[in-house]
Amino acid sequence: MAPIEKSTSNQKYDLVILGGGSAGSGASRRAASYGKKVAVIEKDGKLGGTCVNVGCVPKKLMWYAADMAERLRAAESYGYPDASKLSLEFNWNAFKQKRDAYVHMLNGAYERNFNKEGVEFHDGFASFVDEHTVAIKRRDGSVDHMTADTFYIAVGGQPTIPKNVPGSELGITSDGFFDLEERPKRVAVVGAGYIAVELAGIFHTLGSEVHLMIRHEKVLRTFDPMLQDVLTDWLEHTGVNLHKSTDVVKVEGEKGGPLTVHTKAGAKVEVDVLLWAIGRHSSTESLNLEKIGVKVNNKGDVIVDEWQKSSVDHIYSMGDCAGKALLTPVAIAAGRRTSNRLYGGPKYKDDKLSYENIPTVVFSHPPCGTVGLTEPEARKEYGDENIKIYKTTFKGMYFGMFNEDAHKEPTSYKVICVGPEEKIVGIHIIGMGSDEMMQGFGVAVRMGATKEDLDRTVAIHPTSAEELVTLR
Ligand code: FAD
Ligand code: NDP
Repeated sequence: MAPIEKSTSNQKYDLVILGGGSAGSGASRRAASYGKKVAVIEKDGKLGGTCVNVGCVPKKLMWYAADMAERLRAAESYGYPDASKLSLEFNWNAFKQKRDAYVHMLNGAYERNFNKEGVEFHDGFASFVDEHTVAIKRRDGSVDHMTADTFYIAVGGQPTIPKNVPGSELGITSDGFFDLEERPKRVAVVGAGYIAVELAGIFHTLGSEVHLMIRHEKVLRTFDPMLQDVLTDWLEHTGVNLHKSTDVVKVEGEKGGPLTVHTKAGAKVEVDVLLWAIGRHSSTESLNLEKIGVKVNNKGDVIVDEWQKSSVDHIYSMGDCAGKALLTPVAIAAGRRTSNRLYGGPKYKDDKLSYENIPTVVFSHPPCGTVGLTEPEARKEYGDENIKIYKTTFKGMYFGMFNEDAHKEPTSYKVICVGPEEKIVGIHIIGMGSDEMMQGFGVAVRMGATKEDLDRTVAIHPTSAEELVTLR
């Protein structure tokens, strides 16, 4: 089904959703499954939003490509003596085309699902005219209107570029990363969060010279200190040029050409690409929210209550633009549960998303996984005397075959327990395989697992994960 370009002027819907990303897609399909008349307005002409087009999906494919490079480098250690003679040059351009085709296929799958389930997909930019009406500005400049009983604002966010750094517009963001046709030889990545470490890791593993510029001493500063320490050290150990306590004050050069990145300390770093990864902000600016009384905070996030309801009774918001836990599964879950509660009958009258104990993975090299409280958060909440920490650090068996001079990735696990029953309030892991391990431990923490539950679980051998059920 192609997006609907025309029609619908003044049609009345049960639900109109602004934004066809993770939140909008999950929420609309769930509402339609209860027989509601639902429309989704999406400005990009294709569905899936950030995750599918410029986020999780193409990022994870690039991470797999980088992972492949690491495995190929390890092949000699695993008894393939001729592996080092192979060319390991990654064909970025050819892979990009395959990756784009995969994303395109997903766009089509989203549309087919909408079609099958009776959700209307409208191509255009949405903004509120009044509390019950949105205007859709179409590509040809025409404007339609839609009225509805209920609206969800699910417009997501966009990467932030600093306004106060001269030349900052010469840099790209994660969106531009996915447009790169070739692997840049030298890259500066500014930022210390998820995107900075993930994209810096991909560039580095695929062979670029990487300068990671962070404002403080560690990456991932909102994560448990163990993850910060291990990953920061490993980035340095493996040859990422980590510029600590560094602020970028000026960028010079040509768009697409060599750039000079000036730091506050007076350093000048020459690169081919500069990538800003300093956070994202909600795309709520042009929605006329003020006019209709929907309140936003000073970052532009829609202010919602625990039921995702905004300051206007029939207008809800979820996903990144509601400003909490900017993750795809969170956006989908918040959207689906809101639709369950509003349209799914008595069974779902209390359905809402709990934002506690959300497991998450950073696809760094090696990957990190985390659920629950960090150690400082747990100590603050429960007091030092009530906290018990279990930790282990080791080299996974996989690295046992590595030649002496090869990089043997670290593995570190931490379990944070509270009280005499040793209830687990946080698990933090870094090391090969952590990305796939975390989901199951997320379930355990959600169910209120104690240290004894881990101890009583028979280990799976030989794995790295077994170390988490044999901690002493
Ligand atoms: P979006 O997916 O951004 O959807 C919002 C949609 O609204 C967009 O399609 C936009 O075009 C549209 N829109 C905006 N304004 C209007 C308007 N006025 N009218 C009509 N349409 C409009 N999360 C994970 O869980 N795992 C990951 O591995 C992961 N990796 C990521 C990697 C990167 C590089 C990035 C940037 C993000 C990543 N995320 C990841 C986060 C994840 O992509 C987001 O949390 C998720 O996409 C949020 O979904 P959403 O529906 O709230 O917003
Ligand atoms: P994050 O909020 O994760 O990290 C941005 C970091 O950049 C900040 O923590 C801060 O670190 C640093 N920073 C902020 N301002 C500046 C500045 N002016 N100059 C230099 N550094 C600055 O944002 P991201 O953009 O990395 O990602 C956005 C969100 O997308 C994430 O929070 C996450 O929710 C989601 N995401 C999820 C992924 C996953 O699930 N694997 C992958 C990618 C994104 P400090 O204070 O230490 O300087």
